Amino acid sequence: MSIPVNQQPIIIDLERLNTGNARGCAACNQKFTLGERVVLACGFWDGGQRLIHESEGVFDSATGQWVERACHTARYTARTPA
Ligand SMILES: [Zn+2]
Repeated sequence: MSIPVNQQPIIIDLERLNTGNARGCAACNQKFTLGERVVLACGFWDGGQRLIHESEGVFDSATGQWVERACHTARYTARTPA
């Protein structure tokens, strides 16, 4: 599965460290650290897309967006009955 260039994970630099850490990671509530890979993702939180760690997100090729893993799982569990 290929991820479009504009949806590639972002490496946390000093500027993003300053802006992103005002709220931290929306998925795990941890602060970001330099060099971490993050993505803009949808999730259960309010307010649209937020930065989360790449490992906590899943790229949904159907929508072309990153989704928090738990949210992604819930979405597809609902869509496809076991
Ligand atoms: Zn996180």
